[in-house]
Amino acid sequence: MEEKYIMALDQGTTSSRCILFDQHGRIRAAKQREFSQHYPKPGWVEHDPREIWATQLGVAVEAMQLMGITPSEIAAIGITNQRETTVVWDAESGRPVYNAIVWQCRRTAERIDRMKAEGWSKRVQEKTGLIPDAYFSASKVAWILDNVPGVREKAERGELRFGTIDSWLVWNLTGGRVHVTDYTNASRTMLYDIHRLCWDDELLAYFGIPESMLPKVVPSCGVIGYTDCLGGSIPIAGIAGDQQSALFGQCGFEEGAVKSTYGTGGFMLLNTGDQAVGADNGLLTTIAAGSSSVQYALEGSVFVAGAAIQWLRDELQVLKSAPESEQYCRRVPDTGGVYVVPAFTGMGAPYWNPYAKGSIFGLSRGTSRAHLVRATVESLAYQTEDLLQAMRDASGIDIRELRADGGAAANDFLMQFQADISASTIIRPECIETTALGAAYLAGLAVGYWKDEEEIRRMREIGKIFEPAMSSAEREACLGGWKRAVRAALCWADEERRA
Ligand code: ADP
Repeated sequence: MEEKYIMALDQGTTSSRCILFDQHGRIRAAKQREFSQHYPKPGWVEHDPREIWATQLGVAVEAMQLMGITPSEIAAIGITNQRETTVVWDAESGRPVYNAIVWQCRRTAERIDRMKAEGWSKRVQEKTGLIPDAYFSASKVAWILDNVPGVREKAERGELRFGTIDSWLVWNLTGGRVHVTDYTNASRTMLYDIHRLCWDDELLAYFGIPESMLPKVVPSCGVIGYTDCLGGSIPIAGIAGDQQSALFGQCGFEEGAVKSTYGTGGFMLLNTGDQAVGADNGLLTTIAAGSSSVQYALEGSVFVAGAAIQWLRDELQVLKSAPESEQYCRRVPDTGGVYVVPAFTGMGAPYWNPYAKGSIFGLSRGTSRAHLVRATVESLAYQTEDLLQAMRDASGIDIRELRADGGAAANDFLMQFQADISASTIIRPECIETTALGAAYLAGLAVGYWKDEEEIRRMREIGKIFEPAMSSAEREACLGGWKRAVRAALCWADEERRA
């Protein structure tokens, strides 16, 4: 019998990637292409949707060529994507009416400030699980309708379609036949009621968005259409936003499972099962990717994680490369009392202070490069522990296991320190491409390529497990120092604001 593969399309913020996985969930081919970032004004970020589609299709073709395979050898396609990024296009011609407004874009920040001032925060959170922010799709769609000439009239005539990047790719893959998004992506638009599982009329009316523009919302796992773009018919069978896909790719199927991504920033998701757990400490409630019923997750983010290591390398020039940080960490027995709070862009959950500044505490004449590097690496773990504690508090689940991924998860020192400081087991999988893997799992399950979650769990290869080895007295002392450093950093910011 001829071997078949699952194709994962991983459409990220800076590149489009395609990975072919085999029956064992192993990578057999990977192709990647970067695309242009547009910054038309300070704080504005755009992508050209046609370039996104062209690079995504391009890497899919290249990956197939690399393997020398035809469409009949691909069992299904799974899609995972940068979330929240917004595209509006003409239903007839398929042409975008404006560039994609990227999740990072701040152009609608004032619009959201107004929404908050009008007292919407609580209602938005109750319906969508989100804290009102320019980051989500809602105000971006409204901006396009309000600012691109002729667009509002067309939208009201039912001639336009809105979608996040998954919708845009599916529309193109199916030649305009299918207009859908999945639960996970819908839950990041700030237009979707995550409890009733429907678009919210009140929010649509508030932002002036006609319902005719919206995609149908479908489960993350299931055949939603077929593509002929690769030279033969292939089912599209899985969709999930990147973070939810990574949780699924980490086999975080059950309630209590947590994944923590150590990338440029950090993202943590906790599967809360069929309960949508609310939080008032800066965490978001969102829909997790599930293979059958709808599952929920709590999500929190660290603004600066690996970026702090880049700062050591590029600005301070105390490192030649990010991986070199590990050698410095091991050169000293501790940080010598130094704490780095890398709040370069404010502090997220559970502190929520946009004015906080990066700070270093506890310097002495004996502080060395190694101490500084180690304190910076440790700060990734402290921030992660803060998020984890916020999740424990909100969910009532005593989380003691963390599935790690992302570039900085390659640092064994960091992983061990995380285990120690969180008194938790850290599991780092062999395949750290968990985002693409999640989309592949979803698609493969939908078409019976893999039988069930149990089969996937069995083939999952664990790379390395880190067990806590620090005494509780030492842990308390370390965490106490970190909390003191954060308090001092926040105090600095408060006094600066008052001055
Ligand atoms: P993203 O997907 O967010 O662009 P990655 O998951 O590729 O990021 O991770 C890259 C980040 O990880 C960079 O910020 C880099 O500084 C950091 N990093 C990579 N390797 C290491 C390492 N061995 N130790 C510490 N940090 C690392």
